[in-house]
Amino acid sequence: MTLDIFDRTKEAGELVFPGTRLAVTEEFIGGYGTYTEGNNIYAAVAGKVSINIEKHEISVMSKPTAAVIPKEGDIVIGGVVNASLQMITVSIHYVKNKEVYPTYTMVIHVSQISREYLDTVDEAVCLADIVRAKVIDDKTIPLQGTLIGSQLGVILASCSRCGSQLEKIGRDKLKCKECAYFEKRKTTIDYGSGKLAFKT
Ligand SMILES: [Zn+2]
Repeated sequence: MTLDIFDRTKEAGELVFPGTRLAVTEEFIGGYGTYTEGNNIYAAVAGKVSINIEKHEISVMSKPTAAVIPKEGDIVIGGVVNASLQMITVSIHYVKNKEVYPTYTMVIHVSQISREYLDTVDEAVCLADIVRAKVIDDKTIPLQGTLIGSQLGVILASCSRCGSQLEKIGRDKLKCKECAYFEKRKTTIDYGSGKLAFKT
């Protein structure tokens, strides 16, 4: 048997189609989005390969079939890709809890970050933070958003000194687990829970 592109074990992140052979059962257990036939594991859905090394599990995460377009009032999740004194730019990865690809871009003005008056954005949000935001204008490119509201704001942030995850120790007050550095953010009430979904 020749080991070519069709035979080799697929790698994490590779795009596959239903029926694509992913791996052999000696190497992996078939997880979500797969089926096993004989000694082989195949993709049951189109999507991206995901591998859990510890569990020796290979899965396929299906891509959303219909395009998800953010509309006014929708809750979105994304990463802060640019921060100036007066606004942040967010690259949106989830719209209404559905993954979107390619991503959408949203800007949030300093006046839309907190109910409290802020001189500059960096008092409440920093580059690389993960935020949950709401679309307030879907007619513009980029979209306009807000972080005002108890469920909106930073849901995960890293220490600007050492890069470790920051823990919430008070309202809008965060502390680094590793180096004990304190930082301020406009956090959501469920900051750090790992929950991306918007609770209603
Ligand atoms: Zn730190």
